[in-house]
Amino acid sequence: MSDASAAASVARLNVHLAAAQPSATYRMMDRVAARRAGGASIVSLSAGEPDFDTPAHIGDAAVAAIREGHTRYTQVAGLRALREAVAAKFRRENGLDVGWQDTIVCSGGKQVIFNALAATLNLGDEVIVPAPYWVSYPEIVQLCGARPVVVPCGGESGFKLEPEALEAAITPRTRWLILNSPSNPTGAVYTLAELRALAEVLLRHPQVLVLADDIYEHLVFDGLAFHTLAQAEPRLAARTLTMNGVSKAYAMTGWRIGFGTGPRWLLDAMEKLQGQQTSGASSISQHAARAALNGPQDFIARSRAAFERRRDLLVASLNATPGLRCDRPSGAFYAFVSCEALIGRTTAAGTVLASDEDLALALLDEADVGVVHGAAFGLAPYFRIAYALDDASLDMACRRIDRFCRALR
Ligand code: PLP
Repeated sequence: MSDASAAASVARLNVHLAAAQPSATYRMMDRVAARRAGGASIVSLSAGEPDFDTPAHIGDAAVAAIREGHTRYTQVAGLRALREAVAAKFRRENGLDVGWQDTIVCSGGKQVIFNALAATLNLGDEVIVPAPYWVSYPEIVQLCGARPVVVPCGGESGFKLEPEALEAAITPRTRWLILNSPSNPTGAVYTLAELRALAEVLLRHPQVLVLADDIYEHLVFDGLAFHTLAQAEPRLAARTLTMNGVSKAYAMTGWRIGFGTGPRWLLDAMEKLQGQQTSGASSISQHAARAALNGPQDFIARSRAAFERRRDLLVASLNATPGLRCDRPSGAFYAFVSCEALIGRTTAAGTVLASDEDLALALLDEADVGVVHGAAFGLAPYFRIAYALDDASLDMACRRIDRFCRALR
């Protein structure tokens, strides 16, 4: 056998992984890093993480955990003390009637989702994913050998899934519905009435599990209240996984702690999977997350106020830019901007914008601004702005985008 054919026969991937796409958000972040390494001064609006530091008392708890020797394996499903804090959070903030045994702790919210889907999906199962969606949902579904059923939810519906569209998407093969509120990438927030209308449909289809991705729970603006499905319709609690974490609420993306609550059979399966995979989340990070959940909560209100103010600056500037349109998002730290009027135009450097991806690449190459194109989230022609960065950078990005759009032919 030649070296080349030996290499080809050994470099075979799992078929589901081979079919998966690398995250478009990370791809754009890599491109931004490459331009920066070349000396360009890029304003990146592509990373989905708060720009604040983790509050000091949380870091202190982690340091104390190290000093006190909490550096060994924990229980696979998480430290009991953290699971108690998680259960208390679900009771206090979400009105869910759960004890610590009804919770699981994983290495980030993403792993909660991955564990749940990997533990339950079989070949040919379907998962309903409303679009625009967080880039990872369809890819995780595909990695599990199942089929994402993407339901387009356009600007007319506020980028939200409507009951008729849900009903039409459900088949006997439907295993899960994924609901994300506030949404990445649109910032859309479901009201209590909207959740109840979706619940009415779900009650007619008892084979469907629901993943409520509440990771942006605390970033809801304009005095709106946050609601989660299992509270809106307690009859669905027995088949809902309510997922959350400390990443976005406490500026702790690097600590990698997520958690969830749901039916025991599902949590047990997730724990079994986790036991053969990571053996559980980092002990130090678990101590930090416990301090986050049990400690002072004033950071949340401060970061919400900062994001709300930035949203207002951003949306006003985008809507004053010719060719762009952006409805005011109600939550998270994203704006999903329509660029329909720019498709077909030509940039000052002579690039024809045939798609939203062309626009995102041209914004990076010609205006030094990093955004992620809408098609990556399942809806075009749009682009996503993550406005988790300081006012001066945000203002500079807005001015660059405005200048770029005004120079289009
Ligand atoms: N869910 C959504 C909608 C997200 O945007 C993210 C992160 O970007 C996650 C889950 C994952 O969060 P974590 O960093 O805790 O894994």
